[in-house]
Amino acid sequence: MSITSQAEIVPVDPTSAVPLSPIPETPLEELGQLVAASRAAFAGEWPRNGRLRASALLTWADAVERDAPALVEQLIRETGKIRREAEAEVRGALDSLRYNAGLARYVGGRAGHLPDGSIAHLQREPIGPTLFITPWNWPVLLLLRDLAPALAAGVTAVVKPAPQTSAVTARLLELAQDAVPEGVLTLAFGGATAGQRLLQHPEIAGVAFTGSSATGRAIAQTAAGAFKRTLLELGGKGASVVFADADVETAVRASVRAAMTTSGQMCMACTRLLLEKRAARRAREVAVETLRSLRIGDPRDPETDLGPLISESHRARVLEYVGLARQDARVLTGGTPVAPDGLAGWFLSPCLVGDVAPSSPLVQDEIFGPVLTLEEFSDEGAAIRLANATPYGLATAVWTQEPQRAWRVAENIRAGTIWVNGHGGSFAEMPSGGYGESGVGRTRGIEGVEQFTELKHINWAPSRPMQPV
Ligand code: NAD
Repeated sequence: MSITSQAEIVPVDPTSAVPLSPIPETPLEELGQLVAASRAAFAGEWPRNGRLRASALLTWADAVERDAPALVEQLIRETGKIRREAEAEVRGALDSLRYNAGLARYVGGRAGHLPDGSIAHLQREPIGPTLFITPWNWPVLLLLRDLAPALAAGVTAVVKPAPQTSAVTARLLELAQDAVPEGVLTLAFGGATAGQRLLQHPEIAGVAFTGSSATGRAIAQTAAGAFKRTLLELGGKGASVVFADADVETAVRASVRAAMTTSGQMCMACTRLLLEKRAARRAREVAVETLRSLRIGDPRDPETDLGPLISESHRARVLEYVGLARQDARVLTGGTPVAPDGLAGWFLSPCLVGDVAPSSPLVQDEIFGPVLTLEEFSDEGAAIRLANATPYGLATAVWTQEPQRAWRVAENIRAGTIWVNGHGGSFAEMPSGGYGESGVGRTRGIEGVEQFTELKHINWAPSRPMQPV
């Protein structure tokens, strides 16, 4: 993908390396009009009418469902993700719309008498026009994961997708056209400059950002200047902690597959396999065997397990980590550029790295590619320390047959999501988000709606002084 001097975005199909249709960037001087439209819609019925919002989300969901096959194809074309994942992404997006349609009619708040005889009325109000900035890797699901609860809360939205996935986002928003009132959803094409310009607009009350921790930091800094509400869903370094009493083969197979989701370009992917020493040798064998059994190839083929990386420069960056692994650790399999089925895109064979030190950049950095590291621990305390040894805290899996141990470990790991005897799964019903450099705030669930609200206490003074009790 490149942004040309004619202010056009030219995405490239990562499977074939063929450029896709160019998309004109939104001129910077027009961004203010989008925010103005969003502000005008916020002054209308939208934030005040939960029934209208619920109905809009359901209508949009029906349109997305009808268009699902085309959305899937476009997702594959722009991201190189495999068909199964693209289908799961659209299903997840639909689920988010339909779940949050129900929440649009939820009346929150509290009321009661206070000790001085006054009446307390606590209500939630939508924060106002909000900016949504999305990454390229799961662009449909991640947008609706944040946007559907926000719309349920009553905000209006300006969406700024990743340049690579501009077309699929445009298609998704077009499907909402007949469902939502004018101005509720507006769309801007561009990169960092457009994102910053929108964020700096005084009428933008908050930002929901999903992307890398480095960009998240830049966004937080800009937002802090004007005290804007920030939801930051950032990078991850997910681990699977496998105890010897677990069903080790199942654990390792599932973890390896979770490591290769979107060819490892996924915030919640398993990037580290932490193995109890007693089980390590067998686990390593299963990991190598599973990785070698994965089929790398054309993401359109339903049999394919791994597609390409998003760009040539990103593959080069991942290869630098593989080079480091060859030097400071041990590459047990993979890590080689390949051209399956003669495809010209940016494929890389899935890579397993052993003998790696916890302080290595291979463990500490988000590589965002098909690279899984193996580390060993001798007891529960060491497992927890290892799991907590990176700046990230998005998602971790714990594998054990012992329920007490599962609870202890889950409670001591600093991550927004802990899976026990599984790796993967996010639910519209349950909040998700990160500790540390993985983010700030929570999306999904009732908490995901509340994220986009201000709390107001209206206090009615007592009509006559309280009698002492
Ligand atoms: P990125 O940070 O490069 O870009 C994300 C978005 O931010 C894009 O729309 C981009 O145009 C925009 N942007 C870039 N610089 C900006 C700036 N200075 N100001 C405003 N906007 C700016 O991320 P990416 O490469 O698209 O996505 C991969 C990253 O996203 C990984 O780090 C991954 O872990 C993370 N991610 C996190 C989650 C989560 O839920 N925590 C989910 C998916 C991806």
